[in-house]
Amino acid sequence: MEKKGKLDLTGPFPEELAQLLQQQGFAAYRASQLFGWIHNKTCFDFEAMSNLPKDLLAFLETEYRTVLPLELAVEQRSKDGTEKYLFELADGAKIETVHIPEDKRDTICISTQVGCAMRCSFCATGQGGFTRNLTAGEITAQALWVENRLRKVGTGLTNVVYMGMGEPLANYEAVLKSVRLLNHPQGLNLGARRFTISTCGLVPEIGRLAQEDLQVNLAISLHAATDGQRSKTMPINRRYPIAELLEAARSYTEVTGRRVSFEYALIKDFNDGAEDARRLADLLRGMLCHVNLIPVNPVVDAQRPTMERCEAFAGILNSAGIPVSIRKERGTDIDAACGQLRGK
Ligand code: SAH
Repeated sequence: MEKKGKLDLTGPFPEELAQLLQQQGFAAYRASQLFGWIHNKTCFDFEAMSNLPKDLLAFLETEYRTVLPLELAVEQRSKDGTEKYLFELADGAKIETVHIPEDKRDTICISTQVGCAMRCSFCATGQGGFTRNLTAGEITAQALWVENRLRKVGTGLTNVVYMGMGEPLANYEAVLKSVRLLNHPQGLNLGARRFTISTCGLVPEIGRLAQEDLQVNLAISLHAATDGQRSKTMPINRRYPIAELLEAARSYTEVTGRRVSFEYALIKDFNDGAEDARRLADLLRGMLCHVNLIPVNPVVDAQRPTMERCEAFAGILNSAGIPVSIRKERGTDIDAACGQLRGK
């Protein structure tokens, strides 16, 4: 994708756009109009922005060339309707975005980094290492692009999960800005409760998120009930062990009053036994939480347990009074499921 290396147009808030346009001698109110075209109407074509003056459009075109900082490179569709988009960014980096249609929802799973530095052993994204953070505009643009696509068939996004490539809380500022952009009343205006940020467990950032004035959902990738086990698959556990992580989760709930979700990928003969389920129940007892069991998606050597075994695991949590569900597998045939995004 050929593009000037300028700040992308999908990243600034209206007031930042206003400053930018004023510096060029344009009226500040043009910024609201421009923001509305991009974020509310999902219009990515300068020529179609009919209420903007010609000289402004000319300026934008020379300065930015394109509205979106990404371009579709490859598109795949699963037999279950899940769609995966490979986008190319201005510097040639590639990221993936997944659209998951359901009966009453249209969820997108967006990426926050090119690659990932966390190196969880079961996840494809980390295998290739970390390249760079995405900008707020690049994160936001994934949602705007999919929204534009969905409107053409008369639907629209209902939920956004930050569960694509990368560790969202390691790119904190840009991720939070993208939530605020998508939540903006002059833009898509998606309710904050429709966002879920998933983290491998960056304790200080969980604390920081609790202080934000935003009703987003927090999901924590736990995947094990002992430090020994967790450190084997998730190197981050050596920095922030389970006790510290759960303490952060508890105070998150205390401060925000919101329930935390724990993701637990079930790996055959590793963390899927009755003993593991009981230990997990002991850890979480009394917390305002929900456990999402994910039968592991085949990426490296991790195998998926049988459905009976997953259900037995869920049964133990259930009898301990811990709300639990087994995540439905989506898009595995096109490598679009959890942990399968590589950006290739
Ligand atoms: N970095 C963030 C978000 C990305 S992944 C995080 O760690 O939470 C979204 C979820 O998919 C995480 O819970 C992640 O641990 C999980 N996941 C990764 N690889 C997986 C796999 N092979 N099978 C099932 N879930 C996986």
